[in-house]
Amino acid sequence: MSLYVILMGVQGAGKGLQAKLIEDHYGIPQVSTGDLFRAMRRRQDELARKVQDIMASGQLVDDDTTNAIVADRLAQPDARTGVILDGYPRNQIQAAFLERHLQEKCARVNAVLLLELELYVAFKRAFGRVSAGDGASFNCYYNADGVDFRWESPADSAYPPRLTATVSASGENLRRRPDDASGDAIIKRIDTYLETTQPLISYFEAKGIVRKINADQSIEAVWRDIRRALATN
Ligand code: AMP
Repeated sequence: MSLYVILMGVQGAGKGLQAKLIEDHYGIPQVSTGDLFRAMRRRQDELARKVQDIMASGQLVDDDTTNAIVADRLAQPDARTGVILDGYPRNQIQAAFLERHLQEKCARVNAVLLLELELYVAFKRAFGRVSAGDGASFNCYYNADGVDFRWESPADSAYPPRLTATVSASGENLRRRPDDASGDAIIKRIDTYLETTQPLISYFEAKGIVRKINADQSIEAVWRDIRRALATN
């Protein structure tokens, strides 16, 4: 039995964390096209350079290149019985390619897991997020225990206050990703998600394989719902 799962959800919906849980539980690897492209930075060939230029410009890599890289990844031994796809497919051409490709292997997309999160919550999850050196994550709106959050006004009041955060016990200063600190950057990410994902959801809904999961719950509750959704395939 193979298991091919597509993970979808706005940034902040907890895809990375849930992908890790699926990976460990079902023994299939997470395949993120963004990660595959970023890994090409270490290569010096023409294709790798072309991909880096496209990514730096904020555009999407062309479908033929993306599909070929996914097909190559799916042929690796650890992906023999399935994968969790993250960031792919991003449009209907890629979706149709994936379906044809799996059909040739006598497999199919078993489920599209849609982690649903209200966009205001998604905004707060990104805007309020800070992280520690060991990877622990906190949020000034949702998960502030043990952390001192402050909004500091710069001397020049032309700029909005800046969020700083310190672990109360150790004094460690927590880091905020620059693209999370910019409300405009977060809004652009959410807009891009809406534009690219909505048509794909309709495409897969017509095939009856979309499983909607409420992502505005604890990690454990989301994980329970995912297992239930995958059990019905
Ligand atoms: P991500 O980490 O998913 O945000 O992807 C980072 C970048 O990789 C994107 O901005 C695109 O340039 C490229 N990329 C990732 N996945 C795809 C895809 N499915 N189709 C085209 N380009 C992609």
